[in-house]
Amino acid sequence: MVPDLRARRAWTLPHIPDPALVLARLLVVLGTRPEAIKLAPLVYELRRRVPAEAVHIVATGQHAELARRALAAFDLQPDHELPALEHGLSLARATAMMLSRLDEVLVELEPRWVLVQGDTTSALAGGLASFHRGIPFAHVEAGLRSGRLDQPFPEEAHRRLLDGISDLLCAPTERCREHLEREGLSRERIAVTGNTGIDALEWMRRRSTPWPEPACLRGIAPQTNVVLVTAHRRESWGLPLRAIGAALRALAIAHARDSRWILPLHPNPAVAAPLRAALGDLANVHLLAPLEPAELWACMARATFVLTDSGGLQEEAPSLGKPVLVLRSCTERSEGVDLRIAELVGTEVHSITSACDRLLRDPVALQRMRPQRNPYGDGRAAERIAEALEARGAFAR
Ligand code: UDP
Repeated sequence: MVPDLRARRAWTLPHIPDPALVLARLLVVLGTRPEAIKLAPLVYELRRRVPAEAVHIVATGQHAELARRALAAFDLQPDHELPALEHGLSLARATAMMLSRLDEVLVELEPRWVLVQGDTTSALAGGLASFHRGIPFAHVEAGLRSGRLDQPFPEEAHRRLLDGISDLLCAPTERCREHLEREGLSRERIAVTGNTGIDALEWMRRRSTPWPEPACLRGIAPQTNVVLVTAHRRESWGLPLRAIGAALRALAIAHARDSRWILPLHPNPAVAAPLRAALGDLANVHLLAPLEPAELWACMARATFVLTDSGGLQEEAPSLGKPVLVLRSCTERSEGVDLRIAELVGTEVHSITSACDRLLRDPVALQRMRPQRNPYGDGRAAERIAEALEARGAFAR
């Protein structure tokens, strides 16, 4: 069903005095939690530079509830919400549905520029729909490459596809710029900006310091190790997730007295069920519903280290001085690995238990992995992206 954007327009654009502005809209497309978190600072920055009513957020319905909650954590809400996608749709069907619905949105709103972020199906659909309509679009977080098309799947392919057709490539790091140039993408299309996820963390730090203490941290003695764990990647579903569960079980039992394991679980049953089955009965393991970003960062700030397959957590942990063990065999965030503040531990039981065990038992090893700086961003990425857009005439009336 095509969303009734005409009805929405009545309340989303009530104050626009100049009809010319209607054609100068910037459309921010997002569908999942990380996109909402990473685009929130950019929405603020754009609304600082152009009339706020001209910057629209459209939520694709991919992970409707998580995205809405993440935006709300930054006091934002979607201006247009497409119908929530059912769980378990094939990638092709989800892409097709979002692509055709977003096409309707583009026809209705006629944005001057579109912004998409990262590597999700929503980002792909947003970028492709803009390309098909001849509307320029910016790809925020361009140029990340794991070097393997199947890992992460389908995200690595989405990034390459988006980068190939995007008009402005916002590369978070110099390494990302090099990847893009090596692929023959012209320098004029690229801006090195930093990662907006760090802006989001700094935004929240300014607002919430000290971090609110989530219930799961209450009463934990200062000398107890806390490990923050997240795992949700599609390529880990099945056997790898069962191995992660088995490794965590062994670790939690071996360190029953001196460790707590905090696991905010992704709501997808393919992720939550095997971890619940492996860990549900252990007193020092906290299996939680998804946390608010500020709560998640509070847990990270208290953690001894982070064990994760998440891209966002790999980027954020250095800002809070935390080493990361990455539950993957390769990563597109290789800057951390090169600086030795992150280590790839894969998804085999033994490699996970031995790496965690080392950091729990050996303070020197832990200290050596402690980040001194964040290679992914400095909290000013949104500013640089807005400048790059302005230089390309995106704000012109
Ligand atoms: N996050 C959150 N609550 C949680 C787990 C993660 O707010 O319970 C945030 C996290 O801080 C990061 C983003 O969600 O900003 C990462 O999302 P996810 O791991 O789902 O995706 P990825 O980064 O791997 O694309």
